[in-house]
Amino acid sequence: MSSHLPEYVAPLSLAEKGCLIKGEYPLASLARLQGMLACYEGNVRFDLNFERKGRMRVITGSVLADLELDCQVCMEAIDLSVDRKVSLSVVTSIEQAERLPEEYEALLLESVEETVVLMDIVEDELLLALPDVAKHGDCSNGENINEEAEREESVNPFSVLANLKKD
Ligand SMILES: [Zn+2]
Repeated sequence: MSSHLPEYVAPLSLAEKGCLIKGEYPLASLARLQGMLACYEGNVRFDLNFERKGRMRVITGSVLADLELDCQVCMEAIDLSVDRKVSLSVVTSIEQAERLPEEYEALLLESVEETVVLMDIVEDELLLALPDVAKHGDCSNGENINEEAEREESVNPFSVLANLKKD
């Protein structure tokens, strides 16, 4: 389970060395996910490969989870199988982030030694995989959608950093 996983990782040095981290976390342990799911049983599974790619230091892999959401139209449960491909490039400046190839999202660090919470990387990817408004494909009566359900706050690639700043 998650006991062997490091709490913090140094993405750049892991990518220099080349390192695969895989494991799982209970959904109930992901703080920012709270309130978004109909059910918190089960785990999120992930494999993250830290490696060098040309001049980039990247994290690739996948984040998998079987989630249950509430349909915002009929309020019945929706099963959502998340299979999120992770494609992050570790950068230490906004300029670097802006120059990334399109397929990469930036994981912005303040310094090359900076460590991040491993669980935050996994949770960010899971949050990005959630729909803005959860609803069944055939629950198309858009007028019934609660406006508040359309979450304004989108999760951006820098949210790991924002999270660290709270410390
Ligand atoms: Zn529905």
